[in-house]
Amino acid sequence: MPLTGPARSLGNHAVRRDGAGAWHDRGVRKYGDAATTSAELRAHNLARLLRAVHDGGGQFTRAELTRQLSLARGTATVLVRDLAGRELIEELSSPADAPADLKVPRTRGRPTGVPSAHPRGPVALAVDLRDDSFTLAAFELTGRCTVLDRQEREAGSGRGMLADVAARLKVRRRQFGDRVVGVGVAVPSPVSAGQMVQPTLPDWQDVDVAGVFGAGGDRADSGPVLAGNDATLAGLAEARRGVLRGISVALHLHVATGIGGVLLSGGLPVSGARGAAGEFGHMPLTGGTEPCRCGSVGCWELDAGARGLLRAVGQPEMGDRVVRAEQVIAAAGEDPGCARALTQAAEALGRGIGALVNAQDPEAVGLSGLAAEVYQAAPGAVRAGYLATLMRFRRSEPPPLLPSTLGDLGALTGASELAFDAFLTPRGLGAWPAPEEKTA
Ligand SMILES: [Zn+2]
Repeated sequence: MPLTGPARSLGNHAVRRDGAGAWHDRGVRKYGDAATTSAELRAHNLARLLRAVHDGGGQFTRAELTRQLSLARGTATVLVRDLAGRELIEELSSPADAPADLKVPRTRGRPTGVPSAHPRGPVALAVDLRDDSFTLAAFELTGRCTVLDRQEREAGSGRGMLADVAARLKVRRRQFGDRVVGVGVAVPSPVSAGQMVQPTLPDWQDVDVAGVFGAGGDRADSGPVLAGNDATLAGLAEARRGVLRGISVALHLHVATGIGGVLLSGGLPVSGARGAAGEFGHMPLTGGTEPCRCGSVGCWELDAGARGLLRAVGQPEMGDRVVRAEQVIAAAGEDPGCARALTQAAEALGRGIGALVNAQDPEAVGLSGLAAEVYQAAPGAVRAGYLATLMRFRRSEPPPLLPSTLGDLGALTGASELAFDAFLTPRGLGAWPAPEEKTA
């Protein structure tokens, strides 16, 4: 897949949505469409090649990347040498994490190296911020993830947890020095102009994420801080590295306490005028009439997701709902009450999915978080609900339901993609220090 189409504009879109993309938009207009001087063309091709290494997860040989990008072989050789000299990539003889029996060049003719992550190369820091915990991880260029910190929220306030995250980020920025090209943050709230506009924790209301997690304005050392809604980023991760890769129009649903998601067109999140689309949990898809915490009535997540499951089993909505919902799912094998609740919530999940498929006409539907767990525990009930609400003409070939394979790394992975999208541009690469100038 060439990298001049949706994949590029996805990055622009995601960054612009957070109000931090003005420089980036200029860069794309200047370099993306009309690289006029040879220096601009070279910067443009360097960014394309590095983007291809990133998107391909370090699995493609130089010859394969050369073909993908329609570059001349000599040009590709020079570009690879340049990127390697700047410690942006390292050329290996086989993919870094390939199983031993696959460690042979896959191209015919003369074997070429595999451009891979450099041991002193770019790192995106990613944070998955939840109501009750946070996870901080480092992602290499090729998407390899190392979880660095994971912490439950103490009894203290949500603001206290934000301070904890900021302190950890500071430590990790120091550790990785100017290898850090940016910080992506997945938050449990719709995000508009970088702010949490309706978070589940009241004391996160209107928090400016970049303001809280920025490095004291020293942008050159740490890269930008970019925030996105956790469910949107989980969908972005599936489109980049998971089950929705290469799918033209995809719907992704991420279920935790509530239900969020994203419609992806050509890999591009359709994120609305304010960046806050995808609140599918707050649509009356299952016909209820009760008031919801969001201000609306009859919301889908009152019947499906963790809230729906706990309500169906008669448990009050307190404590860590996701953990308790998982306990209900696990107990469904022995406990008839839990089994009934699971069936009910699974059917409600399916009915909502059918309604959304009627509206959006996706090629496939990705499921992550509790949606994947509920589907795997009660696939028949989810499918029954799904088929019941699908319009007749869709039923012979319903879009497949695809449980995520990224586990609980989805939102983190999507957050890292936000940071790499900002970096993998001519302008982003221009800020990358020469090896002799680096601090780490
Ligand atoms: Zn609602």
